[in-house]
Amino acid sequence: MTDATLAQRLTDVQDGIADAAAEAGRAAGEITTVVVTKFQPVELLRELVELGVRDLGENRHQEAREKASELTGLGIRWHFVGQLQGKKAKQVREYASVIHSVDRPALVHALASNESSVDCFVQVNLTGDQERGGASPSQLPGLVDDVLATPGLRLLGLMAVAPLDEEPRRAFAHVRALSERIRSQAPDAVAMSMGMSGDYRAAILEGATHLRIGTAITGNRPQPRLISN
Ligand SMILES: *Cc1c(COP(=O)(O)O)cnc(C)c1O
Repeated sequence: MTDATLAQRLTDVQDGIADAAAEAGRAAGEITTVVVTKFQPVELLRELVELGVRDLGENRHQEAREKASELTGLGIRWHFVGQLQGKKAKQVREYASVIHSVDRPALVHALASNESSVDCFVQVNLTGDQERGGASPSQLPGLVDDVLATPGLRLLGLMAVAPLDEEPRRAFAHVRALSERIRSQAPDAVAMSMGMSGDYRAAILEGATHLRIGTAITGNRPQPRLISN
């Protein structure tokens, strides 16, 4: 049994995505929606899978690893969207299909592998607040070169979170401009991971290829301390 409300919210967001894509003259099918399930119980993730969702996003390694092991065999693609410590990097590679938060050379080096390849985004920080994660625009060219030179990483493009104090569409236009700029170095890195519950329409209008949507689909997040293991 799936929760009718969850199904309804999923449908509403899918309709919103289709509308925005139509407005942008884009095919909705070229946009990947990652449902961000951080802090949500595994049961809700199972319901999402029953509703046809295959791309799930998590932002903490421990929680992601536990969920991935509990939900193994369901064809889920795990997207790691949170800040990542170098010492956890190798472990995240074991379950993640895509890492959205590559933001510094030390992490790039920690993610290197000669055995397998993982898709990744370089995260750009549009706020100037280093605590928020992401490389500054001026650090991007160097970081992109680092990723390109590192075995086991396939660069999809750029990821960003719109700053709270900026109009989202402007922020996403900035990401688009940065994305166009890095293509001289990385012609295949054309993807853009941007757009969350409150601003995914603006992101689609600026060319987002990967949306990371949590609460608009899942409903409110429980407090992390209320989640057992
Ligand atoms: C939590 C989170 C999201 C989803 O946020 P909502 O506002 O719930 O849609 C997207 N991206 C990142 C990096 C997140 O941590």
